Amino acid sequence: MCQSCHSGLPLSFEVVDEAGIVAAATTAHESKQAWHFHVLAPSCTFSPKPGAYTFLLELTDAKRALCAFYDDKPTAVNKQLLPLLHGADALADKPTGANLSDEDEALLATIERAAKAGTRWHHHMMFPACGLNTSDRKWRLFVEIDGNEPVIRDYANEPSGVLNRVERIYFGLS
Ligand SMILES: [Zn+2]
Ligand SMILES: [Zn+2]
Repeated sequence: MCQSCHSGLPLSFEVVDEAGIVAAATTAHESKQAWHFHVLAPSCTFSPKPGAYTFLLELTDAKRALCAFYDDKPTAVNKQLLPLLHGADALADKPTGANLSDEDEALLATIERAAKAGTRWHHHMMFPACGLNTSDRKWRLFVEIDGNEPVIRDYANEPSGVLNRVERIYFGLS
């Protein structure tokens, strides 16, 4: 059944619980199939269920998408799966400023200001194969700050340095 027809999510998806998300992500990771995930905030452009948090798992090799819905930010499963996706040091406190462009530093400053002011914000790291990504096979960082137009940055390679900084702000680690 297509459940995406009434949503902002341009994908068909299956609804599962958290255990279903973790099992599918772990299986894909262990069998070296491409996968990634998104946490969609209640106000997210892509939310299929406005008012709820959506954990979206895209199994891009298997061409499937799974969603689980939450009343509160799904921080535990996010932190559990992030290192599988972006490496064990995804949330590590790395030296700052390493090879980041002025545009990236400006974006990080904007996010830090929003976070300090208590303005709601969230981000999406879109892999080249991501169903939300309309770029031409680039890595896309898509940042939504309440009351502002989304900020979009495209990269030829995985922007690990800037993503690390964004994730650390997101989880209140820096
Ligand atoms: Zn969003
Ligand atoms: Zn995606």
